[in-house]
Amino acid sequence: MRRSLFVTAALYKQYGEMSTATAKIVNLNDWKFKHPPSYAKLPIDDNPEYNVPVAVKNAVFSKVPTEPLTGKLRLVCASENALSDILDLDPKVAGTEEFIDFVAGKHAVEGGLTVCHRYGGHQFGFWSDQLGDGRAHILGEYVNSKGESWQPQLKGSGETPYSRFGDGRTVLRSSLREMVASEACYHLGIPTTRAGALVVSDDHKVWRDKTYSGHARPERAAVVLRLAPAWYRLGSLEILQRRQEVDLMRRLVDFIVEHHFPHITGEDKYVKWFSEVAHRNLDMVATWQGVGFTHGVLNTDNISVLGLTIDYGPYGFLDHYYGSYVPNSSDDMARYAFDKQPQIVIWNLQKFAEALAPILTDEQTESIKEIIAGLEDYVGDKILHTYLRKLGLTDTRAGDVKLVGELMIMMQQTTSDFTATFRQMGEVDISDLGDSSALESKWSLAKISQAKEWGSWVDKYRRRLTDAAVNEEQRCTTMSKVNPVYVPRNWILQEAIADAENNDFTKVRLLLKIFERPYEINDEAEKLGYSAQPPSWSYGLKLSCSS
Ligand code: AMP
Ligand code: MG
Repeated sequence: MRRSLFVTAALYKQYGEMSTATAKIVNLNDWKFKHPPSYAKLPIDDNPEYNVPVAVKNAVFSKVPTEPLTGKLRLVCASENALSDILDLDPKVAGTEEFIDFVAGKHAVEGGLTVCHRYGGHQFGFWSDQLGDGRAHILGEYVNSKGESWQPQLKGSGETPYSRFGDGRTVLRSSLREMVASEACYHLGIPTTRAGALVVSDDHKVWRDKTYSGHARPERAAVVLRLAPAWYRLGSLEILQRRQEVDLMRRLVDFIVEHHFPHITGEDKYVKWFSEVAHRNLDMVATWQGVGFTHGVLNTDNISVLGLTIDYGPYGFLDHYYGSYVPNSSDDMARYAFDKQPQIVIWNLQKFAEALAPILTDEQTESIKEIIAGLEDYVGDKILHTYLRKLGLTDTRAGDVKLVGELMIMMQQTTSDFTATFRQMGEVDISDLGDSSALESKWSLAKISQAKEWGSWVDKYRRRLTDAAVNEEQRCTTMSKVNPVYVPRNWILQEAIADAENNDFTKVRLLLKIFERPYEINDEAEKLGYSAQPPSWSYGLKLSCSS
């Protein structure tokens, strides 16, 4: 009996593996998009001069063909999880010539409709007018085996009516950063757009001035395959308000609600929709604050109406904790500093509310004002809760803001590491935490324990745990689930980029594997020092917008 149970279990396992394997698509020609895609119901501009910058009118999209990447192409990396879970593709497909051609913009999938999205936006606090997909093409709509609808998009796939002064391309270093961060953030529990694969050309060169030093040099062009249920941004509505295309705005909002927020109905649907867009985006920011992610360019065109992290550029994950951390070298005013992200997203939502005004009644405008008035408290509570969980606490009590605040001050004063401090606090017994001589093997705790208030803070923390009846096992379990060992630190990415520039893609592929399980110790990552103190050369590393 026992034996037969084992046999059944083994067969079941084998069958299970077989059935998932057979369900995946191996031949790209068998992969089909929904035809027509739902977004074809929205007005699409069909200007034959697709690659000339133009102010597009009365349309949400422009019909624009991709301009394929030329020369010898190489697959840099692919996300097995995204390809298989979202696109139903067998990860083996990624190595095929057809797939590489597809990512390079050469091969259209049956049923697809290639369009670029028209949007505007406020950049660094000022209205920038029309922006739009200047180097990205939405290829179609794929409804996967789970019934989910996704829009595959290429980034770096050529010029469009929205290219303005740009060349429609993106380079290897910035695409690699987008690829890794999208997938890492997903596994870190951050709502985000995804990335399926990255292809680079040996011969297709573009000129970039990486550090804005006045010396441009040729770099290899690349394309990332990005994935999202939809690509609408706050700026998608702002442009329609600025151009007084009110009927189209109503049509677009109705469409987005019907297709992407189907649970929202009734008379006050615009108010409910605003509320959900706002709260989703603040939920997203709270997850950023919890892992030290700083987006870098929080313009209204880089905020998705679906509440997803979008457009990874000069972002950065905190190394040593510094509230005013700014990863973007162009952000002189520190507008998009780490600790300002919640308030800046609220500013963006205010601009969004102003954009929606033409389709709202006076009463609805008032309701939205009230919603906005509550956003700061909402996100404050979310962030506090996030930090308490990072300390192994699941409820909120009086004095918690101070408890967390004092920890952050000590972290900043002692330049201890944001990620490692929280992680290591869950790896040391609470009774040893106040004793700096017991913390030598934990490099970040060794730093923070130099703060003169450390001992008294640990006493306070211990009392708080006792009051909430959190035992040591519960504390450590909670902490190990929310405090990652690994995050895509800029220095780690810089090393992977340097190798990739020499066609060695081992590191970037390893990174994708490591970040599939960021909460687990990985031997290869340990050998490379990914949870150790960052090297001194990486201190103060900044990124420009050049991409
Ligand atoms: P980003 O900073 O990447 O979010 O881009 C801001 C705007 O500039 C968007 O409208 C992009 O499409 C556009 N853009 C950025 N780089 C390029 C480029 N190389 N070619 C064309 N458009 C670009
Ligand atoms: Mg953008």
